[in-house]
Amino acid sequence: MQPADSVDLVKAWITEAQRVVVLTGAGISTDSGIPDFRGPQGVWTANPAAEKQSTLQHYLADPQVRQAAWRSRLVHPAWTARPNRGHLALVELQRRGKLHALITQNIDGLHRKAGSRSVTEIHGSLREIFCVRCGKEYRAPKIPDSTPPLCNCGGVLKPNTVLFGESLPPQALETARRESGACRVMLVIGTSAVVQPAASLPYVAKEHGAAVVEVNIEQA
Ligand code: ZN
Repeated sequence: MQPADSVDLVKAWITEAQRVVVLTGAGISTDSGIPDFRGPQGVWTANPAAEKQSTLQHYLADPQVRQAAWRSRLVHPAWTARPNRGHLALVELQRRGKLHALITQNIDGLHRKAGSRSVTEIHGSLREIFCVRCGKEYRAPKIPDSTPPLCNCGGVLKPNTVLFGESLPPQALETARRESGACRVMLVIGTSAVVQPAASLPYVAKEHGAAVVEVNIEQA
């Protein structure tokens, strides 16, 4: 099948489908200047120590790791990044009533910034922090301190982004699974979806009879 035919076919599916769900990954944000952390230019490839910062056990045990992780959060390109055409196209799809849920592995918050609603961030968000002791959530602050402040209860604060050795937010995961099982078409954009549990979502969709379409984003 020629690519043009594929595009027409996908358009037809989207037009006819009652429920369309999108699953996005790092590839949709690279055009906004957010590095793909598993890609060849990824931050983990460039800096193996960054991977250590992303491990919950180290974060909790080692103040120096916390400090380094906090500094990385402060300089994360997501704070100044702007949504790109990919994010905006999904806003448009939603405006037309064709997109029912947007599930993302990205922590950059760009889907919300672009104006998308019903966004489920299964790996959490850089824009939220929470207390690992009492669970209190603090929304959005880019706290300019060089070290993570403590919660009022004295507990360690942590960016609400999922680390290795840490479970995904159960509520977000439940929503993602429910939406995947209820859609007729799932668009998988900018992710190879090899990391669990995101990798299971297209299978959930398929098992329930949905068409799963992988959209690969080519670098310009
Ligand atoms: Zn607390």
